[in-house]
Amino acid sequence: MLLAGIDIGGTKMEVSLFEVAERLENKEFDLHTGKQRYQARKILSQRTPTDRHLGYEKVMVNLVELIRETVESASASLKDLRSIGLGLPGIIDPQTGIMKNGNTGIFIEQDLIGDIKKGLESDIEVNTANDANCFALAEAVAGAGVKYREETGIEIADHIGVGIIVGTGCGGGIIRGGQMIVGRNGTAGEIGHSTLISGGHTCYCGRRGCAEQYVSGTGIESAYAARIYSQIKERPNARQIFEMAEEQEPLAKAIVKEFKANLALFIANLTNILDANYFVLGGGVSLQPEVYNGLDDLLKRDTYNPGYAPKVYQNVLGDSAGGIGAAMLSLTK
Ligand SMILES: [Zn+2]
Repeated sequence: MLLAGIDIGGTKMEVSLFEVAERLENKEFDLHTGKQRYQARKILSQRTPTDRHLGYEKVMVNLVELIRETVESASASLKDLRSIGLGLPGIIDPQTGIMKNGNTGIFIEQDLIGDIKKGLESDIEVNTANDANCFALAEAVAGAGVKYREETGIEIADHIGVGIIVGTGCGGGIIRGGQMIVGRNGTAGEIGHSTLISGGHTCYCGRRGCAEQYVSGTGIESAYAARIYSQIKERPNARQIFEMAEEQEPLAKAIVKEFKANLALFIANLTNILDANYFVLGGGVSLQPEVYNGLDDLLKRDTYNPGYAPKVYQNVLGDSAGGIGAAMLSLTK
């Protein structure tokens, strides 16, 4: 079967097509939904700028066009598609599938599901989900979760996995037995806006000390800039700060150390609440090997369960995770 997964962000929209079957000659990855096992491969991806300044209606015309073009490029037809999944940058109402908030305002309160069906003149199954939840789902059923299963022998149906995106912001998703936990209002997994430092930095969400202010690339950058004041013309980015730390620059080393302590505290808090089998990190900061160095010892210190450190993986699927997770929505409901 053919599944489409669409990653929709503020700057780009990407449509990916996946072939999924119980047995596949040229499989790229295994897929365990908790109920069933498949083999899968990506056929192709195509992207276009979101161009949100054009307004919702024009953006949807472009998106529908991109879906048609991508299906055609795969020498397939819309009838071959089993479903379309959309990963969106905001909270998704679990009843209606409509995006309730987020920083890409044009999609808020819009009926994307209905409008895509209308645009394609098709009654195809369309699902929506939060993009961080899509990341977590993909890693749980086709990435880190598969790795954890291989290492421990524990089946995916019995896993609780938590995906944490440590990028510009900090988003998350909780997956149990191959299914997203979205909660009553679709806000489960919004772990970036839980308080990590009481009375800490002001967050755009209106609270203070949110995890996102510390456990994100932006948090690392602001921490560095705040300590160096006006002595530098250009603020280094998070990647450069990790590089400087490796070269033993004292301030960068201190910032990275502080970041790791905050990350450990954050994961330990989540462990005390969820006792997940594993955590999987995504986003730009997750690519830094230093993040994982000594993390076990910090976790052993911070979790309530004496001397316990949960598994923390770097993401396995890379940039494809969002599209894979969106595509898998129809198989994991
Ligand atoms: Zn916040």
